[in-house]
Amino acid sequence: MGLMTKNEYIESLRKLHPVVYMFGERITNVVDNPRLRAGIEATGATFEVAGMEQYKELAVTVSPLINEPVNRFTLPPSSISDLVHRVKLNRTVANHVGTCHQRCTGLDCLSALSIVTYDIDQKYGTPYYQNFIDFVKHMQKHDLVGNAGVTDVKGDRAKGPTDQADDQMYLKIVERRPDGIVVSGAKVHQTGSLSAHEIIVLPTRAFKKGDEDYAVAFAIPSDTEGLIHVVGRSSLDNRELEGVDCGNVRYSKNCPTLIFNNVFVPKHRIFMCGETEFAVEMVIKFSSFHRQSHGGCKSGKIDCMIGASLALMDYNGTSKISHHKQKIIDMIYRAETLYGCCLASSYEGRSMPSGAYFIDTILSNASKIHEGKELSECIRLMIDICGGFVADMPSDKDFNHPEIGPMLKRYFKGADGVPVENRIKMFRLVEKMAMESADTISDIHGGGSPEAHRVTILRESNLESKKRAARRLAGIDG
Ligand SMILES: Cc1cc2nc3c(=O)[nH]c(=O)nc-3n(C[C@H](O)[C@H](O)[C@H](O)COP(=O)(O)OP(=O)(O)OC[C@H]3O[C@@H](n4cnc5c(N)ncnc54)[C@H](O)[C@@H]3O)c2cc1C
Repeated sequence: MGLMTKNEYIESLRKLHPVVYMFGERITNVVDNPRLRAGIEATGATFEVAGMEQYKELAVTVSPLINEPVNRFTLPPSSISDLVHRVKLNRTVANHVGTCHQRCTGLDCLSALSIVTYDIDQKYGTPYYQNFIDFVKHMQKHDLVGNAGVTDVKGDRAKGPTDQADDQMYLKIVERRPDGIVVSGAKVHQTGSLSAHEIIVLPTRAFKKGDEDYAVAFAIPSDTEGLIHVVGRSSLDNRELEGVDCGNVRYSKNCPTLIFNNVFVPKHRIFMCGETEFAVEMVIKFSSFHRQSHGGCKSGKIDCMIGASLALMDYNGTSKISHHKQKIIDMIYRAETLYGCCLASSYEGRSMPSGAYFIDTILSNASKIHEGKELSECIRLMIDICGGFVADMPSDKDFNHPEIGPMLKRYFKGADGVPVENRIKMFRLVEKMAMESADTISDIHGGGSPEAHRVTILRESNLESKKRAARRLAGIDG
C-alpha cells in the first residue's frame, strides 16, 4: 500500500463508519462535516508535508520493520536521530497548520508500547511485543493514523478504580474470552479520534494488585462496534459550521469523548491485560513522549503567533514601536527554549531493552511545565501587540452587508496601502490562535496536568547525587 497522499488519507476515512454524535445529532458523514473536516485537514497536513520535496527527508524514512519508506508518524524511534526527528517534524507540521495536527498522540502510544510490551513479555512470557510489532507493521504498510485513548473519566479523583461508586470510571475488562476481551468505560478529550483509523488504548495511571481488570492496553479500528464518539463543544466550533469567521481558514481541532459500550478486542490486538505493575511504566513512557511532542508542536504554533503579530504590526502601523519589537523577542525566546528543551531530551535519549529509544524524561517534563506557563504568556503578548479587535471584530457577514459593510470597511482600515480585508483576516487568525479552547486548554492539561509533570520530575531526578555534590563542597563526609 505505502505512503498515502492527503487525498488518499481522506478517502480512506470515508471507508470507516464510526458511530458519531455532535450537538445532539447523529453524524453519518464525518469527512464532509465542516467542523470535523477542519480537524481531518489538520491531520491531513502530516500526509501533505510528507509529500513536499523540502520536508521529505524529515517526514519520510525507511522502516526497519517493513523495509519500505514510511511516514515518521508511524515509526517508533530506534535511534537518537529518530528522537530528534520527532521534535523537528512536530514543529514543521505545527508551523504548517497553526494548531494541533493530532497525529503525534498515536506515535507517542506506539513509542511507549515499543518499550513496555517487551518488558512485560520478559517477566511473564506474554505475546504482547509480537502483537505490537504486527500492529505497527499494519500501521506502517497502510500509513494509518492512531489516536491515544489514555485519559479515563476517573470519577472521584480521591479514589482508585475499585473504590468508585461506579466500577467503570476507568475503562474495565468486563469479560475475558478465549479469543479476546470485552471492555466498557469511557476515554475523554480524545484529540482527533475522528481523524484516526485506529484507537490505541493505554492505562491512564498506576494500578495496584486488585486492579487487574483496569490494567489494559490494546488497539482497535475507530469504527469498531460498540465505540461511540461524542464530539465536544469548543469555543469557536460554530464558526466552522456557519462557514464564516473561522480565522484559520483550513485547519482546526476537536476532541470527542469516546464511550466503549461492551467493545470486543481480539487477542492479537492486546498489548497488556492485567499486569498492574507495568501500568505506571506505560504512563511514564507515553506521557514523557507526548510532553516532548507537545514542545515541538507548540514551538511551531508560537512561530505562527509571532508571524501573525508581525503582520498586524505592519497592518496597524506599529512595526517600528520598540516595545512591540521587545515583545516579539520575548515570544521568540520562549519558542526556542521550548524547542531546545525537547531537542535536548532527544539528544540525551537512550536505548531500552527492546532496542527502542527513550528520551530524557526530566527534560521532556521540564519542557511541558514551560509550555503550560509560557504559551499563555505568548498568547498574552500576541494580544497585547495586536489590539482589542482580537476580542470583538464584527463578522464577515457584517463586512459583506450591502449597507453597513462599506462603512465598516472604511473604519477598520489600518496602515496606508494595506487592504482592509487582510487586516480583518489577520485579526481573525489571532482570535483563533488565542481563543480556541481545544487548543489553549491542551497547552495546560494535554499530556497530563502540570502537577503530573512536577511529580514525574521529582520521581525521576537523582536527588541523592545533588545532595552528594553539595556535601562534598561543604566538606561533609559520606
Ligand atoms: C484539549 C485537550 C486535548 C487532550 N487530548 C487527549 C488525547 O488525545 N488523549 C487522551 O487520552 N487525553 C487527552 N487529554 C486529556 C489530558 O491528558 C487530561 O485533561 C489531563 O490528564 C488532566 O485530566 P483531567 O482533565 O481529568 O483533569 P483532572 O485529573 O481532574 O485534574 C484537574 C486538577 O486536579 C488535580 N488532581 C486531580 N486528581 C488528583 C490527585 N489524585 N492528586 C492530586 N491532584 C489531582 C490535577 O493536578 C489538576 O490540577 C486532552 C486534554 C485536553 C484539555
